[in-house]
Amino acid sequence: MAFLMNSLKVPVQTLVKTLNLGTISLGKCRLDAGDPASLSRMFTLKKNGIDYVGQVRVRSGSPAVRVEVFNENYFEEFDQSEAAVLENLAGKVLGRLLKDKELPEAVKTPILEYIEDQEPVSEEEIVPITGDERDLDKIFERLNQEYFNDKIQARIMWGRDVKSRNKSGFRYGSYDEGKKLIRIHPRLKQDFVPQCVLELTVYHEMCHQFAPSYKKNGTWQSHHAEFKKKEKEFKDFKDARNWEKHNWHRLLLPSEENAELVTA
Ligand SMILES: [Zn+2]
Repeated sequence: MAFLMNSLKVPVQTLVKTLNLGTISLGKCRLDAGDPASLSRMFTLKKNGIDYVGQVRVRSGSPAVRVEVFNENYFEEFDQSEAAVLENLAGKVLGRLLKDKELPEAVKTPILEYIEDQEPVSEEEIVPITGDERDLDKIFERLNQEYFNDKIQARIMWGRDVKSRNKSGFRYGSYDEGKKLIRIHPRLKQDFVPQCVLELTVYHEMCHQFAPSYKKNGTWQSHHAEFKKKEKEFKDFKDARNWEKHNWHRLLLPSEENAELVTA
């Protein structure tokens, strides 16, 4: 399950209009008798032929708005971070709620306040980590030679860790097309993460340059057929994916060294 609290801010450049969230259908409105400013409403998202289920909740307290999607695999459809997807989704769902003529006035207030509060923040800092035994440059170079004929041109670095537990999904890596920059989640440095999982993450992001995203019928296709075909060429693809399937929840916790830093 994934949550969006209204204290959460995401970089403004992730709020791209081209993000195709799928077709949203709102379910029945449920009001809370105890709080006139509250409402909850289920919705479905139809994307690439699959139905996902989510819920939006509004109340007068804090957080005033909570949007969740119950199917974690919904977020696999995007290249943006889960927070960015939820932020987009919240905007869209709230916009739809506001258009509903039967929406009680008392509920409108927290929604409008929430929307006003959404100010962009600067892009998260990137902290390059050097001298690590899991040398990203070396992995990148080796994969580039072995699978891409040395054609991939990108920089690679560790992203910055968040020192709290992830509320939902874990994002292994990202590729910034404009900057030609690959970022890998620093939690993949931990000893329990198999080397092939770290390598597949690097490899996956390299595939994004090899098989670029394109627009089809107005929506961006990133993990398209050509991409997936290339991704499967990675020799440990199945093992790595299998490990991810069974262990992803362990990556929701901050790395131990980071956890110690927080409590020290
Ligand atoms: Zn991807």
